[in-house]
Amino acid sequence: MALFGTNGVRGIANVELTTEMAMSLAKSFGTFRPGTIAVGRDTRESGDMLKAAVISGLLSTGCKVIDLGIAPIPAVQFYIKENKMSGGIMVTASHNPPEYNGIKGIASDGTEYSHEDEAFVEKLYDSHEFNRSPWNGTGGLSTADPKPLYINGIISRVDSAAIRQKKFKVVADPGCGAASLTTPFLLRDLGCKVVTLNAQIDGTFPGRNPEPTGNEINDLKAAVIAAGANLGIAHDCDADRAVFVDEKGQFVNEDILLAIMTKYVLEKNRGGTIVTPVSSSSLIEDIARKYGSRVIWTQVGSIFVARTMMASDAVFGGEGNGGLIFPQFQYCRDGGMSAAMMLEMLAHTGKKLSEIVKEMPGYHSVKEKIKCKDKAAVIRQIEKDVNGEKIDTTDGIKVFKPEGWVLIRMSGTEPIVRVFAESRTEPGAKKLAEYGVGLINKFNK
Ligand code: MG
Repeated sequence: MALFGTNGVRGIANVELTTEMAMSLAKSFGTFRPGTIAVGRDTRESGDMLKAAVISGLLSTGCKVIDLGIAPIPAVQFYIKENKMSGGIMVTASHNPPEYNGIKGIASDGTEYSHEDEAFVEKLYDSHEFNRSPWNGTGGLSTADPKPLYINGIISRVDSAAIRQKKFKVVADPGCGAASLTTPFLLRDLGCKVVTLNAQIDGTFPGRNPEPTGNEINDLKAAVIAAGANLGIAHDCDADRAVFVDEKGQFVNEDILLAIMTKYVLEKNRGGTIVTPVSSSSLIEDIARKYGSRVIWTQVGSIFVARTMMASDAVFGGEGNGGLIFPQFQYCRDGGMSAAMMLEMLAHTGKKLSEIVKEMPGYHSVKEKIKCKDKAAVIRQIEKDVNGEKIDTTDGIKVFKPEGWVLIRMSGTEPIVRVFAESRTEPGAKKLAEYGVGLINKFNK
């Protein structure tokens, strides 16, 4: 089994992801990219244990380590970029349940490790050919706080004067994750009256699951209404994602979030390039067309979006899960920057969030997943079978029909194939999803 999944190495702490693994992985990282390495973590219970193993492994290869403590991953990424470090390691399992943890590599420019880099690290991990420093060449450890640099970095890249003038009232729900230490303070510095929910660090996540889906954040919806706030913000545990609740306490669907932010950015950057994965809504294309812009569709995964944005000098990009990338700040998903940009949008347009959402034409989508033993074989056979249809094979198979499209792709980690269908009408989306499921069943032996 491959060590690295879609988002670094993940597993249940002390069962699937042990200190021995963490240390060997860190030795592999330190051998691959020696120098000064920043290490950060989210708020998980197993975070200290795994971070200590990571630091020890790095020091044994001769790396100098700067321990950044608990911080959002975009804060760690910004620190690495600004201080021109060799790279970093983040101990996080992002939105996974509390028993999980993970290890993620960060490159010197602050972007996530590419899959090529991960393959190199995995080779070293398997071969155990680590740099082993002599007794007087092992690395030194120091600490630093990346949070003020991060918060000030965001404030200097948005129209903070316009935001401060509005004196917004905001409810922040970091889900007891790393943004407990940044988002409430960022909002306060932007002149907001801040009400917090689940903003104490607690790796058992007593308030809600770390994944901020529409169903998970009911307390936030209620709090926004009770407080009479302009909006609510929720993050996942490492805070590279942000989702929003409007002033009426309604969850803003992540596809709509990507769309309204695309529109806002293109208002100021007509003709600019937008980058998003093939799984994102056609709404993005509709908006881009209006502004004379083009959309580049990538494989699913934020690293593909980030690297494609760099190569195409894109003005904005992101995923339909609350992971938005603002290139004027950094090429990674950033929950704090998303929150600040949302406030800037409200300040500049003078509209309520529910009004901005209402302007977006709705698409309907249906998601299904089917268990498949040999998922790769199923995908190969479907590709032959749909010969003659209009398809896109950037990631899985996307089939375009007059009523919309259906994307069939295998999971990176589980023995399942996912179906994602989108249409302007609900029956259209259902029909497309059935068509996709039918194709899988035809070859799923
Ligand atoms: Mg995350």
